[in-house]
Amino acid sequence: MISNKKSSKISGFYKMSVSERIEVVKDFSDLTEEDISIFSSSLDIETADRMVENVLGNFELPLGIAVNFIINNKNYIIPMVTEESSVIAAASNAAKIARIKGGFTTECSDPLMIGQLQLLHIDDVAGAAQKIMNHKNEILKIANDQDKILVDLGGGAKDLEVRILDSPLGKMIITHLIVDVRDAMGANAVNTMCEAVAPILEGISGGKIRLKILSNLADKRLVKAKAIFDKDKMGGEKIVDAFIESYTLALIDPYRAATHNKGIMNGIDSVIIATGNDFRAIEAGAHAYAARNGRYTSLTTYYKDNNGNMVGEIELPLAIGIVGGAANIHPKAKLCRKILGIDTAQTLAEVVASLGLAQNFAAVFALSTVGIQKGHMSLHAKNIAIMAGAKADKIDKISEQMIKENNIKLDRAKEILSEIK
Ligand code: NAD
Repeated sequence: MISNKKSSKISGFYKMSVSERIEVVKDFSDLTEEDISIFSSSLDIETADRMVENVLGNFELPLGIAVNFIINNKNYIIPMVTEESSVIAAASNAAKIARIKGGFTTECSDPLMIGQLQLLHIDDVAGAAQKIMNHKNEILKIANDQDKILVDLGGGAKDLEVRILDSPLGKMIITHLIVDVRDAMGANAVNTMCEAVAPILEGISGGKIRLKILSNLADKRLVKAKAIFDKDKMGGEKIVDAFIESYTLALIDPYRAATHNKGIMNGIDSVIIATGNDFRAIEAGAHAYAARNGRYTSLTTYYKDNNGNMVGEIELPLAIGIVGGAANIHPKAKLCRKILGIDTAQTLAEVVASLGLAQNFAAVFALSTVGIQKGHMSLHAKNIAIMAGAKADKIDKISEQMIKENNIKLDRAKEILSEIK
């Protein structure tokens, strides 16, 4: 049973003008006139100047919308910020196929982040590790004293783990502070707690603390998404088999897995940026998780169900916030959250994982059938036309001509432009 009435299956969305699309999004996400004015505005320079150092201006990237998504029985349209052509179209197409069998379903763990404290120069590491664990409650209390807001929201430091690692410098004790960060990405919250508990760890162990910082391998903050892709819509069971053959290379070969996972991140980074989140943190966590068993591999899994349909699954860590960082500073990030209609970090993570799966399905599907260049180059042709100096409707005319001639080159674009002129 779908929980929201407005369908994300919006036919011909790609053919609409920008203002027509904005009207559709306004209606879907109940945006105000003030909201939609943000689409054409730029981040004000005072805000930019407070966000980072040595500011000169802003750097714009296109913001588009992926349509057709159903996630956990709810219709979603997903804002994506990317410079790469065909990414948004591909995600929308994959979501269109997935919705035939009900769309995406997800599972999400608690938002647990790991802070690391590195202790060195200890003779009896096993004894010191035991002593640290004996003081667990005291350490957690000091950590929680740093963030009353988080604790009041039901989050805060929840657990402690101690690891002993061999190194060229001798044995080290690595203490993991496990923190429930609720709706935050959590890096600042965790780093503050780590710095606060560092002196007590030194006192207990008799060692020297060096690093005290969050780990981006957020493997206690995992999200899974799953979808069934209809075999008939894919073109039959032979195509499903071809898909599985293509996917299998990403399972066994890091050279292919890197490109396969890059395709996943095409989607994931786009919505991470759109919602003002830290895409480097997400990238680092995803790739480290892909290598968790000692060999870098695919973040997605595909298999055929009993009816011959393609089942796709993704699992990855997603340290995403809807408070903190730039999430509540950047007006477009706030607007993008409103478009999504999400009010918890976990719901956002579930949307992000579903988009990552859709993006990956679209890429492997294209690679298993027509190849990606067909779709890619036709959109790329528009970029070439723009590079040649074309404006407005001349962009489409020139790109269509180049596609017809199968000659998508800057020289040719310039020639056609001068012929039209
Ligand atoms: P933050 O400190 O700005 O906000 C988090 C704080 O907001 C919490 O500690 C809590 O006190 C408060 N809060 C209010 N309502 C909350 C709610 N509903 N849920 C949770 N907390 C709530 O941000 P942060 O998320 O701790 O840190 C994110 C920033 O840290 C990002 O900008 C990131 O780029 C940066 N960062 C990342 C790394 C890294 O990834 N290694 C390292 C350092 C900093």
